[in-house]
Amino acid sequence: MNIVDLRPDLRMVLDDGPGQAYLLRRGSDALLIDTGIAGQATAITEALRGWGLDRESLTHVVLTHWHPDHVGSAAELATWPNVRVWAHRSDAAIIRGDGYGSSPALTHAEEGLYAHISGSIPEAAPSRVDRELDDDEILDAIDARVLSTPGHTDGSIALHFPNENVLFTGDIAAEYQGQVILGPFNHDRPQARDSFRRFADIDVDTVCFGHGQPLRGDDTALLRVAATADEVPDPLG
Ligand SMILES: [Zn+2]
Repeated sequence: MNIVDLRPDLRMVLDDGPGQAYLLRRGSDALLIDTGIAGQATAITEALRGWGLDRESLTHVVLTHWHPDHVGSAAELATWPNVRVWAHRSDAAIIRGDGYGSSPALTHAEEGLYAHISGSIPEAAPSRVDRELDDDEILDAIDARVLSTPGHTDGSIALHFPNENVLFTGDIAAEYQGQVILGPFNHDRPQARDSFRRFADIDVDTVCFGHGQPLRGDDTALLRVAATADEVPDPLG
């Protein structure tokens, strides 16, 4: 278990695999963006306790897409007393176990990496989804807005919290060696590249990726630079 404090109101929970989950604190409540791989409930409990909160403080688990390194612990967290699980309507059936997600359309450069990583990710148990999110929906209940970023999966989303000045990109973007790149393992790469462009006008204090180091302060400009580049940075393309 590894908990990284990004800000007083924001913690990253890293699992033993490739997954990253983010806890956002609001007074005596907390939201979780993605869950990491299966088995993270204890780590997330610890992260809440570090803030003086407990399982009852967690009100929402918002999933950026159905991949098992993001939804792996959703089923377990859904049993907590106050948790509502939200995901985009295009990925909801897969998260519930009512449908199968297709495999990503791998580039040659991705094949070895995918074989290595996917073998280490446990299967995600089907999870309840309490609310299906629409494209670019404003989420008044949590003061956030959905940015639809299809292409990684059909129902991939980023989440912008304007009050906290934080963006969670999901896997449409990733940080790698100090650069912001198109996230790997996309189901529709041209569509993913179009979605990546949506970050061109995002102005926030903190950017949190599904994979890679978060960006703070002036470094967040790297996201805009990448999203407005002549070609979307895609080293595995
Ligand atoms: Zn993914």
